[in-house]
Amino acid sequence: MSEMLFSGTEVLKGVGQAKAEKYKKIGITSVYGLICHFPKNYLDFHNNVPIGQTIINEYNCLRLKIKNKSVPQAVRNKLVVCKAVATDGTDDIEIVMYNNVYAFQYLKVGCEYYMYGKVTENLFGKVISSPVYIYVNEKRFIQPMYRLTQGITVNMIRADVKQALDIMRNKPFETLSEDLRMKYNVAPLMWSLENIHFPDSAAAVQQARRRLAFDELLRLQLGMSIMRNHSRNVTAFRMDSAINIDDFIQCLPFELTDDQKKASSEIIADLCNDVPMNRLLQGDVGSGKTAVASIACCFAAKNGIQSALMAPTEILASQHYKTLCGFLEPFGIKVCLLTGSLTPKKKALLKSEIASGEYDVIVGTHAIIQKDVEYKSLGLVITDEQHRFGVSQRSALAEKGGTPHKLVMSATPIPRTLALMIYGDLDISIIAQLPKGRKPVETFAVTGKMRSRAFGFVRDRLNEGRQAYVVCPMIEDSESDLFAVRSYAENAVKSDLNGYNVELLHGKMSAQEKEDVMQKFRDKQIDVLICTTVVEVGVDVPNAAVIVIENAERFGLSQIHQLRGRVGRGQFESYCILITDNTSEECIKRMKIISSTTNGFEISEADLQLRGPGDFFGNAQHGLPPLKIADLSCNVELMNAAKQCAGEILSDDSMLAKPCNASLKMEVIRLFDRDIIG
Ligand code: ADP
Ligand code: MG
Repeated sequence: MSEMLFSGTEVLKGVGQAKAEKYKKIGITSVYGLICHFPKNYLDFHNNVPIGQTIINEYNCLRLKIKNKSVPQAVRNKLVVCKAVATDGTDDIEIVMYNNVYAFQYLKVGCEYYMYGKVTENLFGKVISSPVYIYVNEKRFIQPMYRLTQGITVNMIRADVKQALDIMRNKPFETLSEDLRMKYNVAPLMWSLENIHFPDSAAAVQQARRRLAFDELLRLQLGMSIMRNHSRNVTAFRMDSAINIDDFIQCLPFELTDDQKKASSEIIADLCNDVPMNRLLQGDVGSGKTAVASIACCFAAKNGIQSALMAPTEILASQHYKTLCGFLEPFGIKVCLLTGSLTPKKKALLKSEIASGEYDVIVGTHAIIQKDVEYKSLGLVITDEQHRFGVSQRSALAEKGGTPHKLVMSATPIPRTLALMIYGDLDISIIAQLPKGRKPVETFAVTGKMRSRAFGFVRDRLNEGRQAYVVCPMIEDSESDLFAVRSYAENAVKSDLNGYNVELLHGKMSAQEKEDVMQKFRDKQIDVLICTTVVEVGVDVPNAAVIVIENAERFGLSQIHQLRGRVGRGQFESYCILITDNTSEECIKRMKIISSTTNGFEISEADLQLRGPGDFFGNAQHGLPPLKIADLSCNVELMNAAKQCAGEILSDDSMLAKPCNASLKMEVIRLFDRDIIG
């Protein structure tokens, strides 16, 4: 393997520091990184049309002979315009290029090219702007198109990728043995990298894609398996199935739904086994996962075992703390809240009490998985995921206190195959029904013109004694036209919300400030909370019955669904008002979907289709490394193949320690962006 392959892109000819910086902006930091910057699509110059058949204002491909070129003109500051006239034998067309003297100078009068660009029409005829072109006798009719950034053109990337591939070709490496390649029907790596960029045919693209997607899924599988294997062949504390907590369940302030009952008994059965539980509890927002968690904690406590409940934010942690205290303390089960914002003194005291077993249930954010927190008998770890935790935090917590039973609670309804992919070999409990009497949140999408009417409606609800949320995408005003909570609140108290108690809640406030505001909101001292998406996760105020979401186009459907889950949590009719001035087809479609269904499953499917899996399964939401090429939503065959192949490789070399697996190991580390193996 060539050292140069992993050097910065500056080692390439024609790449200076400035260009290397630009590459970094799109995530390309090395020569190999450039090779892994796969085309976003391809241009096929086979599909060209005569000038008369071009579609105006669309991209068209033409076969053109240059008739004459004018001298490039500097127009105004730094803008250079290059013009030429060309013909396809039937008609003439003008070629215009901006700031691209370099590409222009290669066009020769009398030569023929295939050109692809946007065609417009003016008084003098048709114009093709900034076309991408190849010579007619060029062998490659299929040309890659890339995701670009300011100052980087397609032609630059193509030339640089060519160089990068040359470097790799000098000393190619391969991560899969020929046997495995044959068995799983995948092409060699070098061939695939060449053909993903510079394919001879559409079939070659397919082959290359298959190999590269397979690699990505394989690395993902290997990484997940290795992390999982850290805790295999170990036993967990086997709890006593004879211990009865019926009295606890009887005393909950509501009757459990059938799904909650089923999930609870599945969890208790797992806890009574010495194989560590590894269970996902899936349920839409408001389905009552916390109650199920409290049952698990109660059962563990009665067994003399400590439980940890980890939430993604301090607000949510402190809310869980309150809920669990309310349920558990009457039964003599002690609950504490350990967060990053405690004073050092309080924290030290709390930690020593946790270590001595004073508390049965420890609630907190990631602070509770830090190395310095010692437990007396940690046997159950519950992660309230709500989209937010990454794989790394989960595994860090798993390492705490040997091998506790693990329960992950998630509000993301994801298909089973994908859940398995993300969470590994786990069991799944599903709470599909909402508690009785819960009314679906009525959702409306309106434009800004309707804002004052919408607020009239909000005031009516406030006057009935309800409370409301208003969500804006930003905290402070910025260059974008997006609403920001601060200025929004200032305006609102002078107009639409004049006379009401309005407060802000956003991510720049300290944990204490946020908690104080939430407490005031719970105590009904605040009528309207103007906030960013910090309220997204699990905040539970049953008296809140309206949520207004500004710049609704900015939010993913699943996120809106989460946000709207903040209302409709009590006995009151609840409403979600989405305000957006975006009238694009996609936005309208999204607003229609979210207004027409409250089924989280349907919504996440739609989100997946509209935004693509890259986004949906991006780091932010699931803690999975971002995938470049594999499509988790539809490639089940390839996913299974990768899983099987990973098993095969690991059964022979469980830590990828053998020299033959060295490059594969490196790729796994690269994917997860840290060393999960060593
Ligand atoms: P999730 O975490 O799944 O979004 P929560 O556990 O926060 O949902 O529960 C949402 C609300 O529903 C809480 O106010 C909770 O007290 C209430 N709740 C939970 N289970 C039931 C039930 N079986 N019947 C009525 N209300 C319930
Ligand atoms: Mg919850």
